Amino acid sequence: MRGALGGPGVLLRRLREVMAAPVSPQERLDRLVVLIAGNLVAEVCSVYVLLEDGSLELYATEGLNREAVHLTRMRADEGLVGLIASEAEPVALSDAQSHPAFSYRPETGEEIYHSFLGVPILRGGAVMGVLVIQNRASRLYNEEEIETLQTTAMIMAEMIAAGGLKSLAPPGSMIGLDRPIHGVGVKLADGVGLGYAVLHEPRVAITNLIAENPAREVKRLEAAIAEMRTAIDELIERGDVAHTGEHRDVLETFRMFAHDQGWLRRMREVVMTGLTAEAAVERVQSDTRAKMLRQTDPYLRERLHDLDDLANRLLRTLMGKANGVAHEKLPENAILIARSMGPAALLDYDRVRLRGLILEEGGPTSHIAIVARALGIPAVGEIVNATALIQSGDAVIVDGQAGEVQIRPQPDVENAYKDKARLRARKQEQYRKLKDLPAVTKDGVEINLQINAGLLVDMHSLDETAAAGIGLFRTELQFMVAQHMPTTTEQQALYGAVLKAAQGRPVVFRTLDIGGDKVLPYMERVEEENPALGWRAIRIGLDKPRLLRGQIRAMLRAGAGQDMRIMLPMVATVDEFLRARFIVRRELAMMEKQERPAPTNLELGVMVEVPSLLFELAEISREADFLSIGTNDLMQFLFAADRENRRVSERFDPLCVAALRALRTIVEAAGEAGCPVSVCGEMGGKPLETMALIGLGYRSFSMSAASFGPVKAMLRALDVRKLRERMDWMLASSDGASSLRSQLSALATELKVPV
Ligand code: PEP
Ligand code: MG
Repeated sequence: MRGALGGPGVLLRRLREVMAAPVSPQERLDRLVVLIAGNLVAEVCSVYVLLEDGSLELYATEGLNREAVHLTRMRADEGLVGLIASEAEPVALSDAQSHPAFSYRPETGEEIYHSFLGVPILRGGAVMGVLVIQNRASRLYNEEEIETLQTTAMIMAEMIAAGGLKSLAPPGSMIGLDRPIHGVGVKLADGVGLGYAVLHEPRVAITNLIAENPAREVKRLEAAIAEMRTAIDELIERGDVAHTGEHRDVLETFRMFAHDQGWLRRMREVVMTGLTAEAAVERVQSDTRAKMLRQTDPYLRERLHDLDDLANRLLRTLMGKANGVAHEKLPENAILIARSMGPAALLDYDRVRLRGLILEEGGPTSHIAIVARALGIPAVGEIVNATALIQSGDAVIVDGQAGEVQIRPQPDVENAYKDKARLRARKQEQYRKLKDLPAVTKDGVEINLQINAGLLVDMHSLDETAAAGIGLFRTELQFMVAQHMPTTTEQQALYGAVLKAAQGRPVVFRTLDIGGDKVLPYMERVEEENPALGWRAIRIGLDKPRLLRGQIRAMLRAGAGQDMRIMLPMVATVDEFLRARFIVRRELAMMEKQERPAPTNLELGVMVEVPSLLFELAEISREADFLSIGTNDLMQFLFAADRENRRVSERFDPLCVAALRALRTIVEAAGEAGCPVSVCGEMGGKPLETMALIGLGYRSFSMSAASFGPVKAMLRALDVRKLRERMDWMLASSDGASSLRSQLSALATELKVPV
């Protein structure tokens, strides 16, 4: 009979003895391969370790020529060993040499062995090497042997991760786990940060891998599963899932997985190979992770996250740790690493010590990105498998400007980034020097510059930039970071605090702009085919007037005795504006009746961001007290290109003739009606784009605080008269070449305007 001699439990116990023996790392590896070969009745057992360049080096062998150790190296795509590493799956063959991937290495003397079983050495789903056994006879390895070898590989993974093999790496080289990684993701928040990794949800460190008593481990596993199921059921039944920060859908998926027989059976099987319950959970999760990371189907990858969460819960239960994240004190220069994260969780960290943020998920318009930007923390999203590739304490660089990260960078890379960070700091310093200079062009045209904000933490930017005010306060952010719907009193408190911090400078409060991509975790979610075109912003406000009324009331009360500015988002028709204005006026009348102090003056403005309003410009300019152009949405709707979809969001240039003509129409109509107009979308915060807007006639902009310096530097060098002449000509003589970007850039260079 084949199979592990004395059962897998015996092998693992002997492995533990070898691991604990006071010998050199090489000696330990040599003993391990002898032990594994003997126990699995194989003539060969070899360990290949993944090096930083992606190659796999033979580190120890029993059965092959010993001279080949540290000599034989397979490329990442070479041979059966390369295949196992790239697929992260076991390969069992009765005749290895007839497999197309087989690569013969004469120095190893392996031509006499026919059957082959290789398994990946995995940790957290990341491949660290390959463990192989071989036999002369042509034979098929059974399930139990494959399982045992995988379990052994997991123990080896922990040995590699603990740094046990570092000293054996070839000179000038390092093992794969420590290799520098250059990750390319998406830009979430600008800036460059250097520091050391802190995992938002640290891996649960498993100290005891090998079980004394497998039957007892099965019992522990089953008890933990039962406890976890009860906890999830209770969470769902309590119905206050919002307070846990978890969405009900996620919990329902948890419940489904928690009862998934396949998952539970796999863990039981692994416990039976001799691992402790927690090590079994970790091993099954690592295998699943490795498989799922190779999936391109976004649905399956999403499920991986659910499974990860569940496995972590189970591990915490088994190891007696509380569920939920407990923050330890952050070290200086912390770079936070998370799979995903809610905005409230980020606000819980000590801002002063945070130098950067890396996420496995998170698009540029996600809420966490908005908060990271508000806090000035460089952030990059969509770094695949970041939480497994980065270990706590690793040196990490976040380049939010390029959307890239450097994990464990080489000294020259680190130095290059230090230079980049210094250069940025110098530029910022130059911008700071502009702070007290007026926002006036070279030929004396005054430009009104304001900032966009949405949280109280943004308010310090007012003083830092010396902005004229807040041209757009996105009130939905308070709703998005909260665990429950903010009450009218809570809203009033925030608006009051914002007005106080603004110290008399104007603040434009925009009413709730939720829906579309901005979902509130505690509000019932309506599935929509096209959420951007769906039930959002003022549409919700008009359909649920209680919500809008409550917010207007909070704003009017907060603004008692002061000038107040309120703005309505996503208005598509003048009629919608009038209906909303009716609600506002009724609230004002009620205040008067109740003899409550009201704002001394109220201006009610409108966002121009739905193209239909371009055909009612005369009317809306007459009715509204001011217009503010939301170029983000206006461009999305003008070009029918989803701003969240990277395949199309950059397809149309806002500096193209069509967009510029549309924008000129608005500024001209507002001018004729004597209605103030400004731009508060991203376009108004990019120097070249802002220059073009000034050329069209715009004189007022509201932008993110980070854009303030570059825009001010641009406009102070600008000659508006010359710009206007040239732009009129460009727009009139367009030859169908849609974008004016290159012509405008050339003009900026000619006029010596920094853009
Ligand atoms: C816009 O649409 O340009 C805008 C400023 O609003 P938001 O980005 O919040 O939709
Ligand atoms: Mg908008």
